Amino acid sequence: MTYTFEFRPYRRPFRQAIETHHGTWKHREGIILKITDDEGRAGFGEVAPLPWFGTETQAQAIAFCSQVPRRFSRDNAFTILSNLPACKFGFETACQNMGRDIHCAELHTRQYSALLPAGKAALSAWTPLWAMGHRTFKWKIGMAPVAVELAWLSQLMAQLPLGAKLRLDANGGLDELSAHHWLDQCDRLAHRIEFIEQPLPPNQFHHLLKLAQRYKTPIALDESVTTLDQLKAHYFRGWPGIFIIKAAIIGSPSRLKQFCLDHPIDLVISSVFETDIGRQALIDLTVELETLLPNAPHRVLGLGTQQWLPNDGLDDPDWEALWQRLNPL
Ligand SMILES: [Mg+2]
Repeated sequence: MTYTFEFRPYRRPFRQAIETHHGTWKHREGIILKITDDEGRAGFGEVAPLPWFGTETQAQAIAFCSQVPRRFSRDNAFTILSNLPACKFGFETACQNMGRDIHCAELHTRQYSALLPAGKAALSAWTPLWAMGHRTFKWKIGMAPVAVELAWLSQLMAQLPLGAKLRLDANGGLDELSAHHWLDQCDRLAHRIEFIEQPLPPNQFHHLLKLAQRYKTPIALDESVTTLDQLKAHYFRGWPGIFIIKAAIIGSPSRLKQFCLDHPIDLVISSVFETDIGRQALIDLTVELETLLPNAPHRVLGLGTQQWLPNDGLDDPDWEALWQRLNPL
């Protein structure tokens, strides 16, 4: 069997720039891959790099795709080095999707957390998302002085109906003192704060561990565990909290799945603003892990990101139509 390989880059402006501790993010760039076999069956995959999380850049991913042979057979299949994790994910997904003609059912909206805008804007942004069915919200913190953000948090929690859960994400942007302020406040809100994500930078593992041991509010690692090797290292160093898994940038989905099956961890599968192709891969992975690990904690997916992206056809579940909207390089 021989295969034909094609790729098409995309660039999508966010409806509203995304503010995080890493800076302002205005465009989502990535690449759609298409692999077709001799019988005309196509498989689509997506490369969605996130360089400030340590992945390849869009330019490096394009350079890699440009030197993949247009035609290849299983025997002379190419290797993808681990410094190209987003490419690894995209190619493996494309091969898995080969000939796939029906998509998995969508999960219910309540099974996705919705990303609120940073800062005070969150106070008015949650209502339409609640009306859509979201019950878990995520809010980026660590950009304004801690006292100011804690006052917004109090207002937000006073507004949110009971049954709503909030995830806080500091992107590693707090210092130790402000992390204590945040966690004190989160503990006082009892279980309404589901967890706080990466309060301190990845190089402060021991301080993160101390926080996790001291407070009731769970702490999730995100920036600390962007590669599978980092995930394994933190697991074996005894991290007691949650792991955020940005599957589209962690590398091989099959290796990730195997690790999760061998070492059931408390995890959240999370988006890096993929098109429908990457998004479906994340949903498939979640459904598969939940089926194979029925006793593991099931947390809602960090996928409520579509309201941040334009209606440009790249969320179309008809992947051939999605592909046709893009131009070759
Ligand atoms: Mg995060």
